[in-house]
Amino acid sequence: MAANPITPTVPLDTDGKFHGFLRLPHSRNESAWGAVMIPICVIRNGDGPTALLTGANHGDEYEGPVALQSLAWEIAPEDVTGRIIVVPFMNYPAFRAATRVSPIDNVNLNRAFPGRPDGTATQKIANYFNDVLMPMADVVLDFHSGGKTLDFLPYAAAHYLEDEDQQAACEAAVAAFNAPYTMMMREIDNVGMYDTAVEAAGKVFVTTEIGGGGTATAASSRIAIRGARNVLIHAGILRGELSSGPSRKLDMPDDDCFHFATTEGLVEPLADLGEPLAKGQVLARVWPVDRTGLMPLEVFAQRDGVLAARHFPGLVQTGDCLAVLADVAG
Ligand code: ZN
Repeated sequence: MAANPITPTVPLDTDGKFHGFLRLPHSRNESAWGAVMIPICVIRNGDGPTALLTGANHGDEYEGPVALQSLAWEIAPEDVTGRIIVVPFMNYPAFRAATRVSPIDNVNLNRAFPGRPDGTATQKIANYFNDVLMPMADVVLDFHSGGKTLDFLPYAAAHYLEDEDQQAACEAAVAAFNAPYTMMMREIDNVGMYDTAVEAAGKVFVTTEIGGGGTATAASSRIAIRGARNVLIHAGILRGELSSGPSRKLDMPDDDCFHFATTEGLVEPLADLGEPLAKGQVLARVWPVDRTGLMPLEVFAQRDGVLAARHFPGLVQTGDCLAVLADVAG
């Protein structure tokens, strides 16, 4: 297969701090020999581990971009042992359009791994991370939030893995992130995810869900910045003291955690994020949008748990994820 067409405009293995771009050729009506220029910052100081930090894997999630712009600005090479590769806006076309998937090809970057060097723009980005950047990394932190359609309790997460040692290393890095909540996370659709590719390569992987609704808050931005610094300090790459505070452990042990809308309509939430619910309790009602005088559909909690995520917009469509309940594990 062809080599990936993306080229960095900065060196990836030279001491110092470099701001530049990953240049993705993108010939189109507006620019015959044009390119998508994905910002990248590389900070290296001698030998040591490599961290790969990414935001805007989905283009409408903002805590990662905020944290990584801040870190790329503030971290100096003399604070570093090894290398930090920062890509604040991984799916850059989606980030610029403020959309989850790329407006160029409608591809969801986090379902496109391992990607294709001869594929669409998003497939090429996935393939560059899969084949070039990710193999250089010892630890990978990929920021997510709820985007425009979901809102989450702020958590960093690890996945259940076959390799116990790798899972323990991931859990330790997630604990170091020290978000207000720490999650053992179940994916409903893990084929093609960056997470899955990174974990299959044996790396230490940290993902997050920090807030949502298509915006960042002061609190969620602080959590993201502190967490990224903590992961770098934990990995021995960034000088400094771990900043620690309380973190509640959550677990998503089975598919009953996920509640999907079975009708369209107007959502009346009956619980907010972080509230405990008992199995059988009504967590939301969905009202008709075309008339009065009809009873709403009641959505029952399928298990005990706290509300860890919820649908954000006021209207739902059939099949939307309405709520996620998680076990409080400690
Ligand atoms: Zn996301």
